[in-house]
Amino acid sequence: MNILVINCGSSSLKYQLIDSETEKVLAKGLCERIGIDGALTYQPAGGEKEKSSIPMPTHKEALQAVIDALTDAKKGVISSLAEIGAVGHRVVHGGEKFSASCLITDETIKAIEDCNELAPLHNPANLIGIRTCQKLMPGVPNVAVFDTAFHQTMPPVAYIYGLPYEYYEKYKIRKYGFHGTSHRYVSLRAAAMLGKKPEDLRVIVCHLGNGASVCAVNRGKSVDTSMGFTPLDGLVMGTRSGSIDPAIIDFIGKKENLDFDGVNEILNKKSGLLGISGLSSDGRDLAEAAEKGNERAQLALDIFRYRVACYIGAYAAAMNGVDAIAFTAGIGENSENMRTSVCSRLTYLGAYLDPQANEMHGQERVISTPDSKVKLLMIPTNEELAIARDTLAIVSGKEA
Ligand code: ADP
Repeated sequence: MNILVINCGSSSLKYQLIDSETEKVLAKGLCERIGIDGALTYQPAGGEKEKSSIPMPTHKEALQAVIDALTDAKKGVISSLAEIGAVGHRVVHGGEKFSASCLITDETIKAIEDCNELAPLHNPANLIGIRTCQKLMPGVPNVAVFDTAFHQTMPPVAYIYGLPYEYYEKYKIRKYGFHGTSHRYVSLRAAAMLGKKPEDLRVIVCHLGNGASVCAVNRGKSVDTSMGFTPLDGLVMGTRSGSIDPAIIDFIGKKENLDFDGVNEILNKKSGLLGISGLSSDGRDLAEAAEKGNERAQLALDIFRYRVACYIGAYAAAMNGVDAIAFTAGIGENSENMRTSVCSRLTYLGAYLDPQANEMHGQERVISTPDSKVKLLMIPTNEELAIARDTLAIVSGKEA
C-alpha cells in the first residue's frame, strides 16, 4: 500500500509518498509560502528535484499541486489517487488524550482541537492538513501520529513541575515532551542493532537537530525527556534558549521594555546557538567559524555539547544505568566533533568512543569500542517512515 505522509505547518506542507511494502520513498517534497504566493518542490525517487511557482492561496491548492505532481503523466509515480491507500499526519500535540497513533474520526478531530491551546502554532495547522486531505481524498483513511504520544509513559515524578498542583489539574501544565516519533524509532533501531529486545535495554536517545531533545527510554518506554510543556525547554537549540531560570523572563521584560510576547520571541527565535554566537543557528556555520578562531561560535558549541552530556548523566540516573546511547538528527548524525566532545564526558559510565567508527559517514552503526560497557550508536532518524508504519498498522487493524 502507498502511504502519503504529511507534515503540515501554517504556511508549509512537507510530504513523502512511501511504498509500505518496500518502505521505499516514491516521491517527496514541500509546498512553501502557502497563503502568500506558493511554491512546490517535488522529487521522484532517483529523479531530479524540481521547484515550481504555483498559486497556493490555501492548503487546498497546495495539496492539489502535490496530487497533480504525484499523478503527472511524465514525472508522476502513481497513475491515480486510487493508488494512495492512506494518509499519515504528523500532529504535534496530543496532550494527555493520545498515548498512541490513531485513526482520524470526528471524535479524534475534536480531541486534537482540544489540544490546540497547548500548541497554538502547530495543532491548528496540522488540523488544516487533515481536513484538506478529507476533502480532496474522500474515502482515504487518515491517521494521526503525535509528537507527544511516546512520552505519555513518563511517570509523575518526571512530568509534574514544582508548581501549585492545581495548575496541572486546571490547566494541564506538565511536561509533555516532543520528538516522540523520532525517539521511539531510534530506540527501536538501537535494540534491533544490538540484537536485543526493547524490554531488555535502557537507551538514551539524543535527537540533536535545529530543535533538540534527549530522551530516557527504559525498557521500551519513555521515562523522561528534556523538552517540557513546550519545545522551548531543555537543551540549548538553534534559536531556542532551552532551560533558563524563569526569573530571567521578568528581568529581561523590564530591562528591554518587552511584554511576555516580546520575551517569548527572544527565547524562541533569538537565543540558543544564534543568541550565544551572535552569528548563526546552524551547526555547520558555527563549526567553520570556530575553526577560524571565533570564540563565541566555539562557546556556543561548547555549551550545546556540555548540556547534552549533562542530560545523559541525568537520564542515566533516572534509569539507574544505561546500556546504549544513540545520536540522531542533523547534528547528532553528522557532527563527529560533537559526538567526540560529548562522549569525552561519558567515560565514567564506561562509554568509550571508537574514533575510527565515529569518523565514518552515512549508515547507522556502533561507534563505541568493542569493550565499551555502554554501547554508543549513530542512527539516522526517519520520522516519515515511522509515521508510515503506524499508519499501515492502524488501517490494517493492528495496534500501532
Ligand atoms: P530540524 O529537523 O530540527 O530542522 P535537522 O535534524 O535537519 O533539524 O538538523 C539541522 C541541524 O543540523 C542544522 O543546525 C545543521 O547545521 C546541523 N548539521 C547538519 N550537518 C552538520 C554537520 N556536518 N556538522 C554540524 N552540524 C550539522
